[in-house]
Amino acid sequence: MQFLVTGAAGFLGSALANRLAREGHNVRGLDDLSTGDPSVLSPSVNFTRGDINDRPKLWTLLQGVDCVYHLAARVLVPESVLYPREYDKVNVGGTVALMEAMHDVGVRRVVFISSGAIYGEQSEQPLREKATPQPRSPYAVSKLAAEYYVRTIGRLWGIETVCLRVFNAYGPGQPLPPVHPPVIPNFLRQAALEGTLVVHGDGYQTRDYVYLDDVVNAMCGAATAPGVNDLVINVGSGVETSVRELIRLVREVTGGNPEVVYNPRNDGGPARMCADLTLAKEKLGYSPAVSLEVGLRNTFEMDAKLRKLKG
Ligand code: NAD
Repeated sequence: MQFLVTGAAGFLGSALANRLAREGHNVRGLDDLSTGDPSVLSPSVNFTRGDINDRPKLWTLLQGVDCVYHLAARVLVPESVLYPREYDKVNVGGTVALMEAMHDVGVRRVVFISSGAIYGEQSEQPLREKATPQPRSPYAVSKLAAEYYVRTIGRLWGIETVCLRVFNAYGPGQPLPPVHPPVIPNFLRQAALEGTLVVHGDGYQTRDYVYLDDVVNAMCGAATAPGVNDLVINVGSGVETSVRELIRLVREVTGGNPEVVYNPRNDGGPARMCADLTLAKEKLGYSPAVSLEVGLRNTFEMDAKLRKLKG
């Protein structure tokens, strides 16, 4: 098949594009490199640098494409609080631009990578797709608005759509920006350096941490699965893990004994998050295979190797 992956130089996009190319598909990648790194892409991925709002570029890249994976986005929740207009422009406007270009060119299917963040605070766990979204940040609003655009435009213009709500993904190669680093690579790094793990809140808040390979499996299945048009499907591990439990595992995996500091909660994130995977199992045959302990071990070991290679 011929694919276009947007956000192809990012953490999830590059893993997906490389997997599709390895499986023998023709893969084009688009990314503006605002945060992505194209050096992680296999040479068989045909990469183009460009903005998701650049419609002429989209028309060119969409010629002959069977399915688009749409991952290009701004992804930092605290940054979205400071720059909501930028998040709207890229995450919402860019998605609409892509849907228009797909319609012009006649592309059959789009798999949109949405986020578990759209659920916000919910009393019922695990989270089912029919829960009423309670987005708590401009990032979450932008992903939810993009979902609505994808599904509505898809229905009106006859484009098949699948929205995957990915929970907290982690794995080897996850970027570690100096500001607002994701919790898992940050904790692994800090623990190995015997640094300090800073927890915002009492550490009893829970998240659903899902390993990169499991997310890629779900994404791959969504391109051809029958009976998924217009669906929104959770992609997580189905396991609820507290930050305290995560720290215990990080200590075990790294052999480090970092200090842990509990600060007041600052991000307004929900108290609990756990994905219900009934629909993903039924529609995508999805079954997460990597436990948090194994995933942390792989991530720690592979990132150490990567750092050595880079010197
Ligand atoms: P990432 O930042 O590594 O990837 C996003 C990519 O989009 C980057 O390479 C960036 O350069 C590119 N990009 C940003 N603005 C662009 C623009 N205007 N035009 C073209 N490219 C642009 O983040 P990620 O973690 O790989 O996330 C990928 C997708 O998955 C995002 O849509 C995100 O919302 C979604 N998601 C991620 C997670 C997670 O835990 N990583 C969870 C839920 C959803």
